[in-house]
Amino acid sequence: MKSSSGISVLIIVILFLSYGCQPVKNSTDSIPPALLEDAYAQYKAPEIDNRRFGYDVIAPLIARRKAMFETTELGKSVEGRPINALTYGEGTRKVLLWSQMHGNESTATMALFDLFNFLEGSADDGFEGIRSALRENLLLRFIPMLNPDGAEKFARRNAQQIDLNRDAVRQSTPEGIVLKAARDDFEPEFGFNLHDQNRYYNVDGTALPATISFLAPAYNEAREVNEVRSKAMKVIVGMNHLLQQVIPGQVGKYDDSFEPRAFGDNIQKWGTSTILIESGAYFGDREKQYIRQLNFMIVLNALYEIATERYTQYTEEAYQAIPENDSKLMDLLINNVETADGDNKYRTDIGIKSSEQYLDSLILMKGSIADWGDLSVYYGHEEIDAEGMSLEKGEIWPEVIPLEQLDSAKVLQMLKEGYLAVATDKHHQGKVHQLPILVYTEGNTPDLNPTLEQRPFFYLTANGKRLMAVINGNVIRMDGHKNESFWQLIE
Ligand SMILES: [Zn+2]
Repeated sequence: MKSSSGISVLIIVILFLSYGCQPVKNSTDSIPPALLEDAYAQYKAPEIDNRRFGYDVIAPLIARRKAMFETTELGKSVEGRPINALTYGEGTRKVLLWSQMHGNESTATMALFDLFNFLEGSADDGFEGIRSALRENLLLRFIPMLNPDGAEKFARRNAQQIDLNRDAVRQSTPEGIVLKAARDDFEPEFGFNLHDQNRYYNVDGTALPATISFLAPAYNEAREVNEVRSKAMKVIVGMNHLLQQVIPGQVGKYDDSFEPRAFGDNIQKWGTSTILIESGAYFGDREKQYIRQLNFMIVLNALYEIATERYTQYTEEAYQAIPENDSKLMDLLINNVETADGDNKYRTDIGIKSSEQYLDSLILMKGSIADWGDLSVYYGHEEIDAEGMSLEKGEIWPEVIPLEQLDSAKVLQMLKEGYLAVATDKHHQGKVHQLPILVYTEGNTPDLNPTLEQRPFFYLTANGKRLMAVINGNVIRMDGHKNESFWQLIE
């Protein structure tokens, strides 16, 4: 009895020590995803509703921040646009977050403006517990849109055509100088480096897109883990834990090869625990508005876990267990279609990628056949099992037709009869249309042979019947079922 009660006391002492030593200042509970979803719904910034916006859209949103934020102009871009920092909080633990150093990577910028609204929310909205944990423990500094010149053109690089993420050391760009100075002046404990990645990243070994990818960047060639990097890894584990509840299997980890010119790697080296977040693709969310919500949720969750030191419960092993990214997605993957090279019939898979072009607020799609042959290691955002189907080349409509006379009913009739391209008057070149056919101007006669690196315009047939037309990478079903409209250029 005596000895067992001694053991009981010992166990209680150990439990007390292990909990008592955890430097948790507030609640140890993580934030339930549904609560974060509610917060997003309530505080989403309605002024931003698509991915392509310039400094003129965010300038009034920065100017209207209330007394809770201190706004500072850190410098100007090459073309003279301001780069601003917004500072929030009364705590001592410093966190720096910067977005859009690549001008066409705006997902996190949208989420930061949602977060600013949240931080200014009223105390009786049910989220004050989270907000006060952030305000009391943290000093947050945000730099939304580090590359406003790139954002203006929705282009990656700055106006000097330099990739800012290769300018951490050379310091040739005013934007790169601003970011390094912001880090050196503020000396944050944590840094969030917010980017977008292309649509073709999947989670290794699966058909699922890497909707969010993380990295705690290496600070040396040997990719060692010190205390600074280890803390970044642990914060990532918390964000992954949250995401697995809402987008299971859609989180990847970036390759951690050391890049001596990049900001993330250097900021880690300079002593700030640095977290890279890359927003990728989500099925049916080309405008990335759901991914914006996910950014809001994970950044808020991570800040809360830093504020409460809850992140310290996670392990490096849990970070290492996050699957790697791969790059095996196509926009459209057609499997096992029969085709012919002269008399020689064979089967092939066809991988199609669609790039975007921008005209004012419109996104135009331009498809290309990216790969051809055995593509069994690839996956598609959309996949067609073409077993039993044949590839058929389309024809060009024999007459020039005025653009006004082309409508979707007429075009669908043309598609049914075997025509995939039609000429129109010369002066329409460079205009846009939403018809599911290739419209070109006289003299620009297209090549409709479906082969590698050619434009994807062809039919899939079965028993001599045209089932589907692939038009610029988009699938048009001849029965009209589920066809979506999309913008194309008149060539
Ligand atoms: Zn980037």
